[in-house]
Amino acid sequence: MKSVTVIGASLAGLYAARALRAQGYDGHLTIVGAEQHLPYDRPPLSKGFLTAPATAPDTAPDTGTPSAETASAEAQLALTDAEEIAGLDAAWLLGTRATGLDPHRRAIRLDTGRTLTTDGVVLATGAAPRRLPGPAPAGSHTLRTLDDARALRADLTGGGPARVVVIGGGFIGAEVAASCAALGHQVTVVEAAPLPLVPQLGYTMAELCARLHGDHGVALLTGTGVRGLHSAGGDDRVTAVELADGRLLPADVVVTGIGVRPATGWLEGSGLPLGDGVRCDAGCVTTIPAVVAAGDVAQVAGARAEHWTNATEQAATAVHNLLAGHTARTHHALPYFWSDQYGVRIQFAGRYRPGDVPRIVEGSPDDRSFLARYERDGRTTAVLALNRPRPFMRLRRELARAVQPAATA
Ligand code: FAD
Ligand code: NAP
Repeated sequence: MKSVTVIGASLAGLYAARALRAQGYDGHLTIVGAEQHLPYDRPPLSKGFLTAPATAPDTAPDTGTPSAETASAEAQLALTDAEEIAGLDAAWLLGTRATGLDPHRRAIRLDTGRTLTTDGVVLATGAAPRRLPGPAPAGSHTLRTLDDARALRADLTGGGPARVVVIGGGFIGAEVAASCAALGHQVTVVEAAPLPLVPQLGYTMAELCARLHGDHGVALLTGTGVRGLHSAGGDDRVTAVELADGRLLPADVVVTGIGVRPATGWLEGSGLPLGDGVRCDAGCVTTIPAVVAAGDVAQVAGARAEHWTNATEQAATAVHNLLAGHTARTHHALPYFWSDQYGVRIQFAGRYRPGDVPRIVEGSPDDRSFLARYERDGRTTAVLALNRPRPFMRLRRELARAVQPAATA
């Protein structure tokens, strides 16, 4: 293989590039990214990036020039540095969007009008936020990119206490609500489901996590969707959120975190099977062996994950198989995510299925610090911790050893 093109210059894309070089690939490497920025880390965007105090400029992870207020907050986003960028010896086409793919010819159309042909393709285009129907007035935000976070941070730190309505009580919703509360804003979270995070944690543990909102003075309204946003002030700024039941919540700032869609629109018509993401086998390989996928965009053996560790691990598997020319290795890592909310680190490893029974084995929910095992038929299926990082990591390793099948040759 003499040339590989990675589409998506973020977490999975960077880890794919690293894995290519680490696995001995010494051919041409091109990385195409729709954003103007070099790869940066998204997790801080909903957490420390929003709450970091404004100080003097520092090293920032991107090629643009951030304002002095955001520069030091941006230093924490760095995923890579100039030395690594030079070592990867890649052509970076940033601010460039792939608009189409012919997987048989491995021809990639770009929005610049250029077409790249290449021997191998890594699809790492991630996911994009779902949006509410209707207009999005000023002061209403989604949060996926550094540019989104800069705009939200400016709205949250520009004046005094504001009324913030967060739509969606999932990961973005809970983390942004916690950050807004830490900044002294009056926060309401609106969640369509009867309780957030039930699919991920099951009812009992989701309920314990939801209590964190109330502990910190954040109102959680569940079981109601949103009809739309109002901007009654004549300046196109949001003034209220209208709930599905007709109630109006006054709002100065609105953040919508109602899930994401895998970024596969540009692959429509390519002939690659698309479902909930790019359909791949258990080795992250599509129906064309020279086209692999990793991260939030990849539906691997029927499942798509939307977490940091998954994106990094899948990239290595995808690249291994791309270089091998067939599925030589499969991806069986134990799913893992963390979330930081109100000073509590939530960590979860494994897969929760309805019927699994959580049992607290250490600590107490009253202290918001405990370790729980999920059990089914006497076996541990998953492990959850609130503020118990060390024992969690021990149980996570134990569980990984128990579920890890031998990798294929
Ligand atoms: P992405 O990071 O979405 O990157 C895809 C890239 O591809 C983007 O830069 C996009 O612009 C680009 N792209 C898209 N389409 C095209 C195209 N057609 N052409 C060229 N480029 C394209 N996970 C955790 O486990 N723990 C956390 O605490 C956590 N916090 C998070 C906080 C926030 C605010 C967000 C948004 C996510 C968080 N995540 C967290 C999830 C984690 O960041 C993602 O799972 C991870 O970023 C996925 O990496 P990816 O490279 O697959 O996709
Ligand atoms: P999410 O975790 O899927 O949560 C979205 C939530 O919004 C769900 O609870 C959903 O309920 C609810 N919802 C959907 N439509 C709604 C509506 N119209 N009104 C009110 N609530 C509604 O997605 P997210 O929080 O937007 O996060 C986006 C992505 O970032 C995800 O990939 C997530 O994994 C990632 N992320 C991860 C972390 C982390 O791992 N710590 C942190 C931040 C972001 P239903 O389930 O009933 O639809």
